[in-house]
Amino acid sequence: GRSMASEKDAALAPVPNDNPTIFDKIIKKEIPSTVVYEDEKVLAFRDINPQAPTHIVIIPKVKDGLTGLSKAEERHVEILGCLLYAAKVIAKQEGLEDGYRIVINDGPSGCQSVYHIHVHLLGGRQMNWPPG
Ligand code: 5GP
Repeated sequence: GRSMASEKDAALAPVPNDNPTIFDKIIKKEIPSTVVYEDEKVLAFRDINPQAPTHIVIIPKVKDGLTGLSKAEERHVEILGCLLYAAKVIAKQEGLEDGYRIVINDGPSGCQSVYHIHVHLLGGRQMNWPPG
């Protein structure tokens, strides 16, 4: 898989924008993904470059301008809650009884590489603090 350095390179390369992303293709099933959870508003699938035994990406099916958390407006409060609640449901489904890590990368300094808001669910190993 890609190294941490190239993950960072990927995050620093794009200028943040509201263009369609690879996640739109995943939503439309134009490219395959391993879906682990789906409801009316939320889709969750396994990360292609997992950083833990369980690494799932949880996204809104409709982006509605929410390229990242820093673009959140009052109208996004409901979907933000849905994403976080889905994370909890999926963590249980994945058997992460001892705990897990939720991450939202935002912007270049946050190492965001895909500009369609997403919550990372990481588990199945001991997490460390501080994160890198
Ligand atoms: P970010 O770095 O923006 O917080 O997270 C984007 C995540 O999406 C990365 O962990 C990356 O591995 C994952 N990702 C990017 N492209 C694809 C893809 O085509 N399929 C899947 N399953 N994950 C992807």
